[in-house]
Amino acid sequence: METDKRNCKVCDETIHGRRDKQFCSDHCRATYYNNLNSDITTFMRRINYTIRKNRSILCRLNPNGKARVHRMRLVDSGLNFDYYTNVYKTRNGKTYYFCYDQGYLELEDDFFALVVKENYVG
Ligand SMILES: [Zn+2]
Repeated sequence: METDKRNCKVCDETIHGRRDKQFCSDHCRATYYNNLNSDITTFMRRINYTIRKNRSILCRLNPNGKARVHRMRLVDSGLNFDYYTNVYKTRNGKTYYFCYDQGYLELEDDFFALVVKENYVG
């Protein structure tokens, strides 16, 4: 006899009944779909969206892999400086902010250097 044990995606109870059931009860199904639209999910989606948007802005302003742009150009493009995927500090104290492979570094006089990380690994 084939054992086809599945567990509820919400409470981890063993599910009885149809093979395609994902939840042990209507209550757990409702909980699951409510959580999909919960505040934290919305919040995380918004951040993910902002970072992806930041990346495409940086991409567009930096088609050749290296560029120097004024802060106002970044602001006008809609870059949100609060969100990035990672920060890279060099030994001489410079701080690069990355949105995935696209990064920027603040220079003097409100200018920024745009860079692209080659062989992006994380
Ligand atoms: Zn359940």
